Amino acid sequence: MAEVTVDVRDGLGWVTIDNPPVNALGRAVRQGLWDAVATLRDADVRAVVLTGAGRAFVAGADIRELGQTPVEPYLPDVLAAIADAPVPWIAAINGLALGGGLEVAMACHARIAAPSAKLGLPEVNIGIIPGSGGTVRLPRLVSMATAIKLVTSGKPIGAQEALESGLVDRLGEGDLLAEATAMAKDLAASGRPEPALARDLVAGDPIDWDAQAAQLRKRSRGAVAPLEALASLKCAARDPVEVALAGERERFLWLAASEEAAALRHVFFAERGAGQALKQAEAVPADLSRVGVIGGGTMGAGIATALLLAGSYVCLIERDDAAAQTAKTRVADTIAASVKRGAIAATKGESALARLGTDTEYAALRDCPLVIEAVFEDMGVKREVFTKLDAVMPAEAILATNTSYLDVNLLAETTKDPSRILGLHFFSPAHVMKLLEVVRGEATGARALATGGALAKLLRKIPVVAGVCDGFIGNRIMAAYRRDCEFMLEEGALPHQIDAAMQGFGFAMGIYAVQDMSGLDIAWAQRRARAPHRAPEERYAHIADRLCEAGRLGRKTGKGWYDYASGEAEVAPEVTGIIEEESAKAGRTRKVFTEQEIITRILATMQREGQAVLREGIAESADDIDVVMITGYGFPRHKGGPMYMARCAD
Ligand code: NAD
Repeated sequence: MAEVTVDVRDGLGWVTIDNPPVNALGRAVRQGLWDAVATLRDADVRAVVLTGAGRAFVAGADIRELGQTPVEPYLPDVLAAIADAPVPWIAAINGLALGGGLEVAMACHARIAAPSAKLGLPEVNIGIIPGSGGTVRLPRLVSMATAIKLVTSGKPIGAQEALESGLVDRLGEGDLLAEATAMAKDLAASGRPEPALARDLVAGDPIDWDAQAAQLRKRSRGAVAPLEALASLKCAARDPVEVALAGERERFLWLAASEEAAALRHVFFAERGAGQALKQAEAVPADLSRVGVIGGGTMGAGIATALLLAGSYVCLIERDDAAAQTAKTRVADTIAASVKRGAIAATKGESALARLGTDTEYAALRDCPLVIEAVFEDMGVKREVFTKLDAVMPAEAILATNTSYLDVNLLAETTKDPSRILGLHFFSPAHVMKLLEVVRGEATGARALATGGALAKLLRKIPVVAGVCDGFIGNRIMAAYRRDCEFMLEEGALPHQIDAAMQGFGFAMGIYAVQDMSGLDIAWAQRRARAPHRAPEERYAHIADRLCEAGRLGRKTGKGWYDYASGEAEVAPEVTGIIEEESAKAGRTRKVFTEQEIITRILATMQREGQAVLREGIAESADDIDVVMITGYGFPRHKGGPMYMARCAD
């Protein structure tokens, strides 16, 4: 089956890209397009309609080919041939037009899009930039400000926005191909429009390139591709077309061979490969159109919001009517904030909220095939919840816990059928964060696992399967490096130095700023609960405990690892004093840590704990660990993850 088919009908040429699943622009498609241009140049056609078979126009390059030596025909040459065609080529954008796909569409002389189409240049997400004239053509179709947004963010836009910005010329409201035919005939009659490269830049407000670069540098946290994309657009604004095209290609080629792009490709495939056990679970998942949530605090309300926005009905159980009302308000506020941010339409928010029911009786959950518990992190409270659920729920219902640390096997003991119990560890805010740790207990059955997989799919989350241990994959690794950071404090570092090193490496925030934001008291309670089980010879830093004893519980108390009296985080002399006292008590001579030493040590701890997690079978693969640390804990994506970095260093 040819990847590109050519047809002549009704005086028009028809070119269809058919390379399932998403019409990626591999070598065969490029060759097919190249041949199509040649065939149609000699055919008696007045215009050509180019479209994609299936749900995509062209969703991008074939990522497996990136990072290898490019093979002919090269995309820039194919696109130049399309643009040079004697008759107009019309891109009929039936679905996704991303990356190289949008570059193909931009090389055509006109564009018509289905209202459901999505268009974008997401190259920076895999460490590269458009490499076939995308940054030179784009500002000749849309304003430079829009071009900068599209190329440096990598975020796609919808067809309506594409129409308003000038990226497409028309929307095909009804039958796209029929409307493309009409457009082709119009253009055949009126004459071929100039190809993008022959047009002037779209007029717009002048761009302050230095300010743009400064902003982007801050946002991209050490990733270079977004800055190179901006630089390429700046050349497009300033240089003759040929110079800008050659410069873009040069940047594209060196970026494609860069460590950053290799790391981002690793993450791309690791995310798609995550959660293998869920894909293999041969069982019919529970129906998710109605889901129960117990506890409507931070997490329960977030989980309910995610479910409601995905179209499910939610029955939320709280301890009493007042708590139920508070939970409902929390969900309503979260949805309202999403509407205000423009993340969802107001009507979608309203219908989501209308699917929320609250109750105080577990009997209300009986028709929910899945129930997710998100009550206090306390084994006694959770066991009571599961005992009650076991008594009330039909035998086939799947029961999940959102516990962060507790033993899922012990919770499963409270039920007659432990195969229906699993952990579903969401991250806060649950309606935003992409990661879902699906925790498999000793007895968790295939149906429970399949339900975890189906839930991740419904909520568009990335599921990673974790075994039972203290903290599963992510919290366990984080606890390990948090402990080691406290040892570094004892040995001579200060919190702001560790945070600066982490931010310099690419984390959005350092570990102490994060702790201040989420509060120090929960971890304190955990340490106190574990104190009796600690071996006397185990090294233990008392610094965090002393902060809590001094009422320094984080931002909510106006002070934690930092002082917040001014509203900003400032180095706290009291904390420095406590740290120095604890160093002395532990008999340590304080030394100066460089940023590199701090990062090397944090990475080594993450990697050591990651290896243990793998050895013990808690994670299915090293790639899954990278996915957890990147999507759940702010590890910089463009570094590929701690396990990937360890592999590269070998
Ligand atoms: P929270 O204190 O904000 O909310 C807990 C809610 O549960 C409260 O609204 C409380 O009224 C309700 N509740 C308590 N006992 C109940 C019962 N018997 N029946 C019905 N409702 C009951 O806590 P949270 O931060 O939402 O955490 C909930 C769970 O999620 C914990 O197990 C926690 O470890 C886990 N978790 C938290 C986070 C986080 O970032 N906060 C992240 C992942 C997982």
